Amino acid sequence: MKIKTYKNYIDGKWISSKTNKTFFSLNPATEQPIARFQDSDDNDIELAVSAAEESFPLWRDTPAPKRAEFLFKIRDLLIQEKDRLAKLEVKEMGKVYKEAAGDVQEAIDIFEYMAGEGRRLFGRTTPSELKNKFNATIRIPIGIVGLISPWNFPIAIPSWKIAPALICGNTIIFKPSSDTPLCAIELVKIIEKSGLPKGVLNLVTGSGSKVGNPIIKHPKINGLSFTGSRETGKFIRENAGLKKVNLELGSKNAIIVMEDSNLKLALEGALWGAFGTTGQRCTAASRIIIHEKVFNKFESMFVNSAKKLKLGNGLSKTTDVGPLINKAALEKSYKYVDIGKQEGAKLLCGGEGVKGKGFFFKPTIFTNVRPNSRLAQEEIFGPIVALIKIKNIDEAIKVCNGIKYGLSSAIYTGNMQYAFRAINELEFGITYVNSSTIGAEIHLPFGGTKDTGWGKEAGWSLDEFSEEKTVYIDFSRKLQKAQGVE
Ligand code: NAD
Repeated sequence: MKIKTYKNYIDGKWISSKTNKTFFSLNPATEQPIARFQDSDDNDIELAVSAAEESFPLWRDTPAPKRAEFLFKIRDLLIQEKDRLAKLEVKEMGKVYKEAAGDVQEAIDIFEYMAGEGRRLFGRTTPSELKNKFNATIRIPIGIVGLISPWNFPIAIPSWKIAPALICGNTIIFKPSSDTPLCAIELVKIIEKSGLPKGVLNLVTGSGSKVGNPIIKHPKINGLSFTGSRETGKFIRENAGLKKVNLELGSKNAIIVMEDSNLKLALEGALWGAFGTTGQRCTAASRIIIHEKVFNKFESMFVNSAKKLKLGNGLSKTTDVGPLINKAALEKSYKYVDIGKQEGAKLLCGGEGVKGKGFFFKPTIFTNVRPNSRLAQEEIFGPIVALIKIKNIDEAIKVCNGIKYGLSSAIYTGNMQYAFRAINELEFGITYVNSSTIGAEIHLPFGGTKDTGWGKEAGWSLDEFSEEKTVYIDFSRKLQKAQGVE
């Protein structure tokens, strides 16, 4: 089978890297190579930055409602290509088809939403303390922004960054994950079809060290938006100098199941939160915190249902759970099963891969997990769940908050007091009541507290991609000094 080689997209052209090196992405369900990509380096980033620098004045000066017309076109093209992109995503990333289609839908939604921002991009006006003076703020672009994305939402996350960056008038250097470069390239091809001026969006594929690193350190790149692991986020924070940085990092999310909850509903939420996308969502529920009165019942319902989930290729209609992204992720899952056993947790199901090709790992449930154990504290990013028993709402909140991360949390209860305590006291960027930890809608803020990082993505991300500039207009025809200075 002939493997196609894809190129970088710089200054409106598809070009090869001068490194003359390439890498493959693999289908995680079959371990077959999908295509070959440029293994670029800092020279490619230099070319991309020059193109982004040159195109910046034109794009900045394009009125935002006109910029929006490109975003509307991209939205329309994505709708036309939804099925093809979703199938490609299953092939390259492994998630099941309906989830991949949801991922593309998020991209459609964010381009539509941000296109609408073209006619808003609101600034503010406020009274002056002086007569005959007008005060206002306007939004201006940051300049060149570097966008670095992970593999788990290979169409949606780049779109969450590209759409607001474009509408705010920035030019872009985009580096996708090396596990899903083809999804990124197909997205960029669609954006190219919209007629976006050359140099406004540039895509460079390659490793974190040779492509990501020069982006985060480049003196002409003013802003960074990064989604990925806590470790890489920490490295970026320490090496990005004084750039404006938005970090969307890992988490260890939890569902609380209280004694009065609708257990059937909580079960559905726990299965979806824990094993949806094979546990590889930043919002995946990897801890289920259960009241002692319903613990045994919920535990057996959860294990029985998890054992019935069908692993397989995401293109098959009968598949519930696809593969992990790569061999390293499979090895990590095995490692945490060993850690769980060593820590004294009891393995109730799963705990192993599947013979044959593909990076499959069975839905895995540990019980008797201590809240402070590694199994309950560290992000595994696989289909491995820790069940934790609690006595009351105070303990549930304490355990839920007792981690270094803070992205998504959920509580199942019919009790208003429990629900509002969770809403007010859970130290997470997102809290769901009677729903799983998964289910973000793009027009609300998305982001976490503590080590999950800084800033907000999705609908409220304009602050990440623009500066709110203050404007004073004095029409008194004399020098007026603020603060009452005569
Ligand atoms: P990762 O940190 O390994 O890689 C993310 C991106 O950073 C990739 O493009 C990678 O090539 C690049 N990179 C790696 N080293 C770099 C460096 N030194 N400099 C610059 N770039 C570098 O993460 P991943 O495995 O791709 O993604 C999984 C992680 O992402 C999980 O921790 C998950 O929780 C997190 N995630 C968070 C969110 C969120 O919104 N909070 C969403 C999705 C995923």
